[in-house]
Amino acid sequence: MSNEEKHTHYFSNSIRWNLCCKQATYLLLKKEEITKLSFKEETALKFHMLICKFCRTFKKQSTLINKFISENILANNVKLAEADKNNLKSLINNNLNKN
Ligand SMILES: [Zn+2]
Repeated sequence: MSNEEKHTHYFSNSIRWNLCCKQATYLLLKKEEITKLSFKEETALKFHMLICKFCRTFKKQSTLINKFISENILANNVKLAEADKNNLKSLINNNLNKN
């Protein structure tokens, strides 16, 4: 099972109506970057966003970062070197596995 599948599996088994911030941010990113959310995920996320100012701030910042990336980096066709990409991937995976 890949790291991505492991995390998706973990979250899909533990989605409740009252999400913690870690699950909410995961769902926000999943919605933005990967796929549509299930009805239960979408509803739980909406409820969490109503009550959590930290995740609302995260969403605003994430939207700004994505806008910046698409306007400045993707539009100019700037690419990371393969070695840098792999370093970033392993850093992310190591940090995900810590929690
Ligand atoms: Zn939150």
